[in-house]
Amino acid sequence: MKDVIMFTAQTCSSCKIAKNFLFQNKIQFEQKDINVDAKAREELLRRNICGVPTFLIGKDYVTGFNPTKILKLVDHRVRECKKCSTKIRVPINKGTLKIKCSECANEFSVDT
Ligand SMILES: [Zn+2]
Repeated sequence: MKDVIMFTAQTCSSCKIAKNFLFQNKIQFEQKDINVDAKAREELLRRNICGVPTFLIGKDYVTGFNPTKILKLVDHRVRECKKCSTKIRVPINKGTLKIKCSECANEFSVDT
């Protein structure tokens, strides 16, 4: 899985929406608040990025909350167990996979 870093600021409202989106898609991320983290701020300035949210996904930067771009860059998708609706992380481009739900042990196959 790729490392995801989110550059954020406490007062930024689209950051909140973006965080929700990351949680819903089970994307684990590290948060860097540019108002308190001078290093993070410099890191963005060095790349001529001056807005939050900005995401670093693997080696790629995404500026602004762009769900399509984010999903394109992360290497998993979330599928729901048909029995108990638990959300399960599934890798992409691995063909047909057999998945076992961690909650109800229901087994099913998914195309990835
Ligand atoms: Zn289940």
